[in-house]
Amino acid sequence: MSDATALLNLYDLPRPALDARLGDWGFSPQYRERVWTGLYRDGVTALGDVAGLRPDLQAVLQERAQLGALATHHESFSSDGLTHKLLLRLHDGQTIETVLMRFKGRATVCVSTQAGCAMGCVFCATGQMGLSRHLTPGEVVGQVLHVTRLLRERGEALRNIVLMGMGEPLHNYEHTMAAVDILVDPKGLALAPRFITLSTVGVVPGIIRLADEARPVQLAVSLHGATDAERAALVPAGRRWPLNELMDACRYYVAKRRRRIFFEWTLISGRNDTAEHAHHLGALLHGMDAHVNVIPLNPTVGYDGGPSVPDAVRAFQGVLTSHGVPSTVRQRRGIDIDAGCGQLKATVERKPRRTLPVAS
Ligand code: SAH
Ligand code: SF4
Repeated sequence: MSDATALLNLYDLPRPALDARLGDWGFSPQYRERVWTGLYRDGVTALGDVAGLRPDLQAVLQERAQLGALATHHESFSSDGLTHKLLLRLHDGQTIETVLMRFKGRATVCVSTQAGCAMGCVFCATGQMGLSRHLTPGEVVGQVLHVTRLLRERGEALRNIVLMGMGEPLHNYEHTMAAVDILVDPKGLALAPRFITLSTVGVVPGIIRLADEARPVQLAVSLHGATDAERAALVPAGRRWPLNELMDACRYYVAKRRRRIFFEWTLISGRNDTAEHAHHLGALLHGMDAHVNVIPLNPTVGYDGGPSVPDAVRAFQGVLTSHGVPSTVRQRRGIDIDAGCGQLKATVERKPRRTLPVAS
């Protein structure tokens, strides 16, 4: 029997890389394409199910490769049944969160890019855990395939992907982008780039690189504070990439990609939800093609803040409107099942609080 760790996880490779590897193994272009469509169009769960392969090629595949499927470690459903939260187990025993949300016939999956996170945002359950490791491209893709299969059983399809689960996607840039390339490939899952949203804590070099490489994603930037001191109190990464650098990178992105940026603002009662905070944010975004998503805090065990009350949320939005900045309130759905980022894992595993310094 082959050693599983030595086998290539086919989900790790975007199509050009997989083509090259299969070419080295003696697959003609026609057979390479059959492998790709088997993996992503047919969604096979075993290599032996890839249709139309010659027996000798089938044997090569079995000997050298594997499908790195992710096992369900724990799962829960929200009381309205629309949010399905999964804790998936990786080959080394790490667990990550993936959340499937079905709403008005449009299914969205919230995907993790790291096991834990090094950025240490004080209110975030994942930040409170620290970073265990980056995910491989195949582990990011594996989450999408997992929910695609669940949806297929119900005759539904996936539309939106949000890279907003555990971890900071731009701290794991290469693997995250390899996964995006696999997800949008027109001969595979063919997910629409405009329905893939990447959320970052504000990793400036990563934002510039996304713009330069014209990566096919929508960008969301988590702000939570509109002055350096206020932001850094919530988001330690703000010390490394101050607001002037971050906003320059955002303007560069908007100019180069001709796309608006979404800014996320977790509203914490009394800490960043007053009219003054809203004025600072309005001034910061003035004149930019920006949209703000305000998200009342989902309380976590390791942080003593609470969500803003509805009146404060409305007032905050009113001030933004007066600055010409559009905004939407986003509820973190599935609060009753710990569906905030990193919360299910924190509840299931009850890890002691640990934060790591922002990694380089
Ligand atoms: N690391 C990326 C993406 C993952 S977090 C980022 O920070 O943007 C996705 C979003 O959830 C971020 O805007 C983050 O600030 C927000 N978030 C994290 N914990 C939260 C909580 N407890 N309540 C409300 N929003 C939270
Ligand atoms: Fe990491 Fe995002 Fe959580 Fe901050 S909010 S700790 S960047 S996952």
